[in-house]
Amino acid sequence: MQIACSAAELIRRAWERGIAVPGFNIPYLPMMEPVVRALRDTDSFGLIMVARLEWTKFQAGGPEAVAEEYRRVSDPRHTRLHLDHVPVIDEDGRRVDYVRIISAALELGYDSVMVDGSRLPLEENIAATRRVAEMAGSFGAAVEAELGAVLGHEAGPPPPYEELFASRRGFTDPAEARRFVAETGVDWLSVAIGNVHGAISAARRGTQKIRARLDLEHLRAIREATGLPLVLHGGTGIPSELVRRSFAAGIAKVNVATAIRQPYEALVESSPQAACEAVYSTIVELVRNELCVEGSARLLAERR
Ligand SMILES: [Zn+2]
Repeated sequence: MQIACSAAELIRRAWERGIAVPGFNIPYLPMMEPVVRALRDTDSFGLIMVARLEWTKFQAGGPEAVAEEYRRVSDPRHTRLHLDHVPVIDEDGRRVDYVRIISAALELGYDSVMVDGSRLPLEENIAATRRVAEMAGSFGAAVEAELGAVLGHEAGPPPPYEELFASRRGFTDPAEARRFVAETGVDWLSVAIGNVHGAISAARRGTQKIRARLDLEHLRAIREATGLPLVLHGGTGIPSELVRRSFAAGIAKVNVATAIRQPYEALVESSPQAACEAVYSTIVELVRNELCVEGSARLLAERR
């Protein structure tokens, strides 16, 4: 059985069923094939993703190179192609021509795109997101946006985590989220509820990620306010039991980057093949025993 429906529909089904779709970032093109193979071997469904910083700071090549590799290795029962973080202002504080990048990706056939206006004031984030939602609508692609600050990509020392969690600094505000969703027409919202991104600066990308926690009470308040599938960025390093509990509280997509990038980087120089197998086995373990979404391809293919 093939899944013929859109990315938006598939994520909505996951959300309604209290499960989540993992999205896997591809900073190096050879990582894509073992990701797809692991999804197929566990009969699960996931998104293949690339973020702008993965072609500016890693070796993903660009949206076109990723789309080409995707056409070669993808499997429509198990995968969709997602353009992750295209920031309006990037992690180094520079303005990005996000409209040009996103429209090119839509032309290339990306099934969903993310515009990240989270470093902008609310009004400007709304305006940028609405613009992208209008662009994507004509391609039938889904749009993800971010409200609140999922920190960690910035250069410099990591945020003092316990202080951040206790103060809820940067957490997505439910009232703002309600307004944001109503005014933008976004499909999925990336939220800040204690999650942080893995470090990507050259000096720190190999270091152990912070053990983060999630404020599930806060997540439920955002779900109540928005009524939309919510997205958990920075999925690596959060206790898996908490991640699973977040699925019942509104998370329908969980982004995974550091957990597969670090084993790949550790092995690729000595053995590219072993590096790919490390990606494969990490995903099988994650899908089976941490996210517990083995068999999700079959579940999501069924209309209820
Ligand atoms: Zn992210």
